[in-house]
Amino acid sequence: MAEQDFAYIIVGGGLAGASAVEGIREMDGSGSVLLIGNENHLPYHRPPLSKQLWLGKKQVGEILIHDRQFYEKSNVTLSLVTEVAGIEPDKKTVRSAAGETYHFGKLLLATGGMPRRLSVPGSDLDGICYYRFLDDYLRMRKDAVEGKSALVVGGGFIGSEIAAALVANKVAVTMIFPEAYLCNRVFPESLGIAIQNSYIGRGVTVLAGDRPQSFEKRDDFFVTATDKGRRIESDLLIVGIGIVPSAALAKDAGLRTDSGIVVDEYLRTSHPDIYAAGDNAVFPYQALGRQMRVEHWDNALNQGKQAGRNMAGAGEAFTYMPYFFSDLFEFGYEAVGEVSTELETFADWQKENDTGVIYYLKDRKVRGVMMCNVWEKVEAARALIRRGEKVTPEGLHGVIR
Ligand SMILES: Cc1cc2nc3c(=O)[nH]c(=O)nc-3n(C[C@H](O)[C@H](O)[C@H](O)COP(=O)(O)OP(=O)(O)OC[C@H]3O[C@@H](n4cnc5c(N)ncnc54)[C@H](O)[C@@H]3O)c2cc1C
Repeated sequence: MAEQDFAYIIVGGGLAGASAVEGIREMDGSGSVLLIGNENHLPYHRPPLSKQLWLGKKQVGEILIHDRQFYEKSNVTLSLVTEVAGIEPDKKTVRSAAGETYHFGKLLLATGGMPRRLSVPGSDLDGICYYRFLDDYLRMRKDAVEGKSALVVGGGFIGSEIAAALVANKVAVTMIFPEAYLCNRVFPESLGIAIQNSYIGRGVTVLAGDRPQSFEKRDDFFVTATDKGRRIESDLLIVGIGIVPSAALAKDAGLRTDSGIVVDEYLRTSHPDIYAAGDNAVFPYQALGRQMRVEHWDNALNQGKQAGRNMAGAGEAFTYMPYFFSDLFEFGYEAVGEVSTELETFADWQKENDTGVIYYLKDRKVRGVMMCNVWEKVEAARALIRRGEKVTPEGLHGVIR
């Protein structure tokens, strides 16, 4: 098969990949671009898959990152439903599973991640939904109707949001997760318990501190046995227990990987013509002075764009501090930095466990900030983290309101 040549090839039709097109075109109006993605949709935003689409606040057609005309106008060749099976850095080629070979000048790996799977008996049963893709939403939405029941495995972002979305659609929801309370990696205990109680108050059965031991399918429903000896029947079974970054293409090609694809401040991998961005990239988070991999929308957007600019010669370090957000019923937040309960936390509530700001501290410095039902303060939080001054919890009272 004849080899085609492109100045830029982007592997991965998600947010980082689509944003890279913008970055490339800001710098280079004419170099040829090929965007390869294995889904059967134009690149789309994932956050609405667990939020607005379920609440009728958005329709599927409204979640595209760009419409088809954008790619036409930007002179981008789109190759959807195409799996990239391998890359050869020395030859600067990309090989599709169907056997086509493409030559690149610069390559971006924007392959994101795949849902982490359970490994208990029955965890590969047909119909279990490891939730991440638009096709997952389309399938679940069809089945998640009033009167049905769902077991949601996982109490992190995705599990909590999907559970809330199902409740809004009058599905009877049970949640199961091994931790003591919802979103325990980011919420201090009292907030996590308060949010969990709001779920329970809305009729969700919350099985904290337990986990599935096996799954079976009987007729049209699933039967889940748990570590604590429970037996749960449900029409739907949705799993949201995190992702595994898609780094295999890079690893197999001999590029540097650890908990993802390792890039430098220019988002370049260990090969000077190959870049990575988004959920799959381990990058130097400059304001925090450490390597990080960030699985959030704003990071994929800005990192993808910066990678595109750098592929086209901008030579700009990625110094942006991405924020992230979530909505759990009426509780919404925006957060920035290292938002982890492994750090010391200090909550400055205006209304306890509802409205206020949580600071995440290490060595008496602010490393992360979560603004709960407090809006338009992300910039203030970024500045506070960047300053890196020693603080005391008392001294943080009222700093961000
Ligand atoms: C349901 C849901 C809700 C979310 N909500 C929020 C939120 O509220 N706030 C927030 O900050 N973040 C949220 N996120 C996270 C955010 O959406 C991700 O961080 C972002 O989508 C990452 O973009 P990406 O381009 O790096 O990866 P992805 O979106 O995973 O895109 C990668 C693409 O590459 C494709 N691909 C992979 N390998 C290959 C290959 N070999 N060949 C061809 N194509 C390939 C994949 O199929 C995929 O289409 C949510 C995610 C999900 C799933």
